[in-house]
Parts: sequence; C-alpha cells; structure tokens
Amino acid sequence: MATKTIFRRIIDREIPATIVFEDEHCLAFQDVNPQAPTHVLVIPKKDIPSLAALQPADHAVVGHLLMVISRLAADLQLDRGFRVVCNSGPEAGQTVEHLHFHLLGGRPMLWPPG
Ligand code: 5GP
Repeated sequence: MATKTIFRRIIDREIPATIVFEDEHCLAFQDVNPQAPTHVLVIPKKDIPSLAALQPADHAVVGHLLMVISRLAADLQLDRGFRVVCNSGPEAGQTVEHLHFHLLGGRPMLWPPG
C-alpha cells in the first residue's frame, strides 16, 4: 500500500489537528505553520494528489470545497478580504501530495505572490 500523506493521516485521526469544519466530503483545519492570522487548510476526504490530477469525477467535490471556503471566510469574519491559494506541483511549492486549498486572511496581502 502507498504511504499515507500527512493529510490522509489527519483525516484518519492518526495525527492531531485543530479542526475548524468537517463534513462528509471535506475537512478544514488550522495550518501548523500559519502565514497569516487566519490560515486554514481545506481538503477533500477523497485522495486527490493535486489540482493537476483532477478527474471529471472530482467536479462536485472541488465545487463543494470552494463553497465551504466561502462559508468559512464569512464565519471567520474575513470581511475585509481573504486569499485562497492552491499550490500544484513542486515549482509552485506544493509539499503535501493531497489536494488542499489555503484560506488566508487577517492581514493585507501583497501581489504578485513570491
Ligand atoms: P503546500 O506547501 O503543499 O501548499 O502546503 C502544505 C501546508 O501544510 C503548509 O502550509 C504546512 O505548514 C502545512 N502542514 C504540513 N504538515 C502539517 C501538519 O502536520 N499539520 C498541519 N495542520 N499542517 C501541516
């Protein structure tokens, strides 16, 4: 069996995380190394390695993740704005091979990103 990613281990409750939202399809938890006052990771429970690896069958779950992010941003009172980042592949800085969206907020953001 392939080695589990750290995020699969969080879904399976093998390692702890500060979970802020969970439903049948996804999990949202605090990033262990926050880059902003609010830094939440939103991931599918399905094993999808990256945005580049999406299949047509993943259409609904990805839409659901974005809906959850929108709701979380409101719940977390990020009314001044927030940023959603999805690193795909090594050159973009993806370090965990399980699809995840970063929800960042609580401070002004710069553009372009580094
Ligand atoms: P990436 O660099 O792949 O876009 O983002 C991976 C993110 O996962 C990083 O922001 C990193 O801080 C976070 N991360 C890595 N390991 C853990 C962990 O064990 N627990 C939590 N909560 N976040 C993690």
